[in-house]
Amino acid sequence: MSTILVTGASRGIGAATARALSDRDLVLVGRDTDALDSVARDCRSARVVTADLTTADGIAAAAAGIDTLDGLVHCAGVAGLGRVDESDAEQWRHQYEVNVVAVVELTRVLLPALRAARGDVVVVNSGAGTTAKPGWGAYSASKFALRAFTDTLRGEEPDLRVTSVHPGRVDTDMQRGIVASEGRTYTPDAYLRAESVATVIRQALEATADAHIAEVAIRPRPR
Ligand code: NAP
Repeated sequence: MSTILVTGASRGIGAATARALSDRDLVLVGRDTDALDSVARDCRSARVVTADLTTADGIAAAAAGIDTLDGLVHCAGVAGLGRVDESDAEQWRHQYEVNVVAVVELTRVLLPALRAARGDVVVVNSGAGTTAKPGWGAYSASKFALRAFTDTLRGEEPDLRVTSVHPGRVDTDMQRGIVASEGRTYTPDAYLRAESVATVIRQALEATADAHIAEVAIRPRPR
């Protein structure tokens, strides 16, 4: 049975992805142990790792004991809105640390295990990773950088499949925070369901061996 590591598995898109892959051997990574345990109970075979991926110890804990890895799904991420004139260096740094550096570093450490399995790397990016809008500078810049990383990795590691997933707004805690900071009303039905993004991630992992889904954009459909 193939092993898949999912980051951000405690909530939102990561938790939905873990549940969508509940028939696989899973490693579930996040910071909230109780929430991870709750997701793990819905899965056939899941090992929980509590780790802050912005720390070297967290990266080491997440990767510990993994010699061969069929899928690495990066769902952990943070979003903080703000115009350039109101975003300080710490806001930019934090979003780069979680959304870029942690993804790059965990992937780098797990590359031997991924190569051993000719595995898949799926990275949850964003519509903000292809279009930058006023008020979204730090988040968007981090996601543009993340896209540069996936493009680079795809070229450097031809035996791996590297999928960049670009959802529009998804009904999760992150989106609640974004809508609150925009001063708008939260309307869950206007957004994608986390389960719908998870379905696309599963499809990328289960693409036939001759196919490599490099990039997917998913937009909410009015309902
Ligand atoms: P979410 O509900 O806020 O969940 C974020 C996840 O990231 C949580 O599991 C959290 O873990 C984890 N995380 C954050 N900082 C971490 C750190 N330092 N170390 C380890 N884990 C950390 O967010 P979401 O909406 O599911 O977003 C998932 C991904 O989708 C993100 O990359 C986001 O940018 C992207 N995305 C989201 C939307 C949207 O509308 N929601 C749209 C496009 C793209 P803990 O809870 O355990 O702390």
